Amino acid sequence: MTSYARPIVGIDLGTTNSAVAYINNGKPEIIPSPQGQRIIPSVVMIGLDGKVHVGETARAAQIAMPDRVVAAVKRKMGSTEPVTMAGQQFLPQEISAMILRELKSYVDAKFGPGEKEAVITVPAYFTDEQRRATKQAGELAGFIVERIINEPTAAAMAFGLERLEEDKHILVYDLGGGTFDVSIVEMMSGILEVKASAGNNHLGGEDFDWRLAEWLADKIRKAHGVNPMKDLRAKSLLKEQAERIKKELSTVDKVEIHLPLVTMKDDQPVGLSTTITRREFVALIDDLLAETIDCVRQVLADAGLTPGDIHDVLLVGGSTRIPRVRELITEFFKKEPRCDIHPDEAVALGAAVQAGLKAGILADSGMVVTDVAPFSLGIAVVGNYNGEERSGVFHAIIPRNTTVPVTRTHRFYTAAPGQTEAEIEIYQGEHKLVKHNHFLGKFRLKGIPPNWEESQPIDVTYRYNLNGILEVTAKCVANSKEASLTVHDALQRDSEEAFRQSLDKLQALYDQATAAENETGADDNEDDEDFDDLVQELYDDPAEYTYDKLHHQIKRLLLRVQVFSRDCDELTKRKLKKLEEKLVQTDASGDLEAMQQVIDEVTDALIEFELREE
Ligand code: ADP
Ligand code: MG
Repeated sequence: MTSYARPIVGIDLGTTNSAVAYINNGKPEIIPSPQGQRIIPSVVMIGLDGKVHVGETARAAQIAMPDRVVAAVKRKMGSTEPVTMAGQQFLPQEISAMILRELKSYVDAKFGPGEKEAVITVPAYFTDEQRRATKQAGELAGFIVERIINEPTAAAMAFGLERLEEDKHILVYDLGGGTFDVSIVEMMSGILEVKASAGNNHLGGEDFDWRLAEWLADKIRKAHGVNPMKDLRAKSLLKEQAERIKKELSTVDKVEIHLPLVTMKDDQPVGLSTTITRREFVALIDDLLAETIDCVRQVLADAGLTPGDIHDVLLVGGSTRIPRVRELITEFFKKEPRCDIHPDEAVALGAAVQAGLKAGILADSGMVVTDVAPFSLGIAVVGNYNGEERSGVFHAIIPRNTTVPVTRTHRFYTAAPGQTEAEIEIYQGEHKLVKHNHFLGKFRLKGIPPNWEESQPIDVTYRYNLNGILEVTAKCVANSKEASLTVHDALQRDSEEAFRQSLDKLQALYDQATAAENETGADDNEDDEDFDDLVQELYDDPAEYTYDKLHHQIKRLLLRVQVFSRDCDELTKRKLKKLEEKLVQTDASGDLEAMQQVIDEVTDALIEFELREE
């Protein structure tokens, strides 16, 4: 294992499949499940036993128990409409959280329990709401979500790590199960920049499956006068078979289809025996593939490039295994696409590269990731405020939006004659007065030689790196005396504490489950039920509210407020602070009605803030 304390992983939270990767000895590597699966289906089920199952088990149960299984939830991300699973309602991000929690268990199995940071990918076309929902899913699963990045960028990073010497344009064509995403990524001196993106987040292999399922259903309709698509189980079966046939057609030219039992008619089984050729299948989806090429044209136009300007075409996503896709790309670009990276793993591997860069463990890869400081970082000084000299004036040393990593030194002077000590107070924020900004820490520089005639110069240096670690040094110019302070995660301190609370809480819950299990001899999935309870309590009937429930909700809201405070502007931050105080006060009052009211108020306010941000 590498030498940093908290593991950071990259996650491809796909519509169809998900995977998690990390950096091992400078190279991205998939973290497989304990059973050795490198990617898992993004399918969730609540079994008859009431337990949550994620992955292959859930996928296998899709036909038998369609109403207990949720697949392709990514397409619903960002929506506030609940999804029904086993008669219970969940928000899309809660279902996604269950998938992420499964992946986290692989990470935990590898690194041991404890905090984990994650970089999670989303399609370039995801809206703000969808990105936020993805981030929430990660947090619900117990990850500290370091960053949400675009899938094509991640894919390009997986690709770029090996071949840094070249400056070039890469076109990433990602055709997965539920989304199509095409981006042009420019690589220059190891810096990656997305020039343009296009795509359709409702186009992918699932659509091909449905086209083929319809084709099969049509054969049954014609032969038996019954519509199997009206029978939920028959529909699931045809979809499942369609996918199997589709995959086979990627390697063979013709597939024989024998489905003895698809549905029933007049108490008699209705089945299907037929064949399909690759050419017939391609004809079923050709318009969809043509649409992807239109998007390629579009993205080239947006970037002001021609096909000849593209050095490499990178094929990503399981559906790029369809030979026709390769043909179309080769025809269009007049050259073969590159496929030296596993199409199913590229995004997760690239997310791990980003994670590694963020954690500083890929520093000598030559690849650079740039970031900007979202808030100004500075110190408290005696200075001019509204034409008046006063203390507590904020002096920014690293202004907001400065590209990081960065080191800046400013020279200050002692304020009082004969002064031998100086207090360095570190703040972040945009207000002219430090009291309105966020205090990060302070230290004292001692041993300044007393000077009664003039001020003594003090050099203050701020060193801010990509991990959000701020190192502040103050140096007396006259005698080189120095003092310094390091502020970890300067920009995320509050929320990290909040995360710690959250994780502790979840951990306590799982510990309880384990304890209960040991006592009662219950089986090993007790913790899933607790997790389930946690998610479920959001939908409890308000009539049943007790102090405990409301108190719990307030605690969760406080967490949300703190997490949200992380990346909002100063004004919003102050408003949030007020709401936070109100929550705490009302909670202390124990007045159930007031508690319910403040919960509603803060929830509404959060929704409003969430919409207003950006
Ligand atoms: P996502 O990014 O949406 O999670 P993936 O990149 O994992 O999706 O791709 C999943 C899709 O790839 C599915 O629709 C699956 O049927 C399809 N797929 C996987 N293997 C093949 C294959 N050999 N031929 C055609 N399609 C395939
Ligand atoms: Mg994908």
